[in-house]
Amino acid sequence: MSRYVVTGCAGFIGSHLTDRLLADGHSVIGIDSFEDFYPRVRKEANLEPARADPAFTLVDADILDLAVERTGSPGDSRLVELIRGSTCLYHLAARSGVRSSWGSSFEIYTRNNVLATQQLLEASVAAAIAKLVYVSSSSVYGNQEKLPLQETMSPQPHSPYGVTKLAAEHLCGLYHANHGLPVVSLRFFTVYGPRQRPDMAFHKFIEALRHDREIEVYGDGLQTRDFTYVDDIVQGLLLAQDAPSGSVLNVGGGTRIALIDAIEALGEVAGVRPQVAYRPGKAGDVRATWADIDRATSLMGYRPTTTVAEELARQWASAVDGR
Ligand code: NAD
Repeated sequence: MSRYVVTGCAGFIGSHLTDRLLADGHSVIGIDSFEDFYPRVRKEANLEPARADPAFTLVDADILDLAVERTGSPGDSRLVELIRGSTCLYHLAARSGVRSSWGSSFEIYTRNNVLATQQLLEASVAAAIAKLVYVSSSSVYGNQEKLPLQETMSPQPHSPYGVTKLAAEHLCGLYHANHGLPVVSLRFFTVYGPRQRPDMAFHKFIEALRHDREIEVYGDGLQTRDFTYVDDIVQGLLLAQDAPSGSVLNVGGGTRIALIDAIEALGEVAGVRPQVAYRPGKAGDVRATWADIDRATSLMGYRPTTTVAEELARQWASAVDGR
């Protein structure tokens, strides 16, 4: 049995990773502050299966507070103590969401995405940790001229959120270069599946369809996204333990689909004809994402196994079942 640490364990993706690690027979220390981007009750529900497993320990705290909390051993913070000796530290904790990263809330984004990551990196050096996997985002790319998006492209984030994810990715790179920290950064592309965050498109579309409401689309609906099913994301996270340190890798579905086509597919799953209301595009939204996954395939054997049409049915079913 290996011991893992997952930050952001109560969130959408972190809870799926935690469940998988526990199912594989490992123990997990999960750190989450239950910050208020969406209701705590949802995060508590995400954690229900993990909490029933004695191999899971929840640390209900903010990374930044743990970094300053002193322990019995001189010089050690509680954060260092928690992560020391783990097989892999997965860092998913962040303030998510592109559209809400403008204005005064940017302070929360810098705190949870940049400062918290920097403190975790410091603690990781102090704890001489075996492997750190940082979860970055396709948002670091912004609007590029060419598709699919490759890791060699110069990042140009189009939202404040993207800036914070890129800043943290750079921090990981420089802790690797200066301190030899074994860290890998994964750029995730629009993740979907059960427990999806309530601000995300498919979650909102499903709720609209279930309650016979119009689906609001910001822009012309022709924007494309590389939607990645959460099981493929978990596969990428597990493989990243053995990926070369210092690398930055796209983890996406490897295909793209226009938003309006995804809505049609969802309508078919739901057995209803979606009513779409078009609204002006939102600041921060990009025109297209599409991951080139060749690097993740060659460096860690990542191969997505799902298709949007099939997996939308699973997200729909889990929403209907209230899971
Ligand atoms: P989420 O909001 O559901 O989960 C993030 C969790 O981190 C939350 O439970 C929150 O309480 C916790 N958290 C935030 N700041 C913290 C802090 N300072 N200390 C402790 N806990 C803290 O988001 P998600 O969709 O599961 O995203 C997980 C990660 O994946 C994030 O890093 C996000 O940027 C990245 N990502 C997500 C997507 C996506 O499509 N969902 C795409 C690209 C990247």
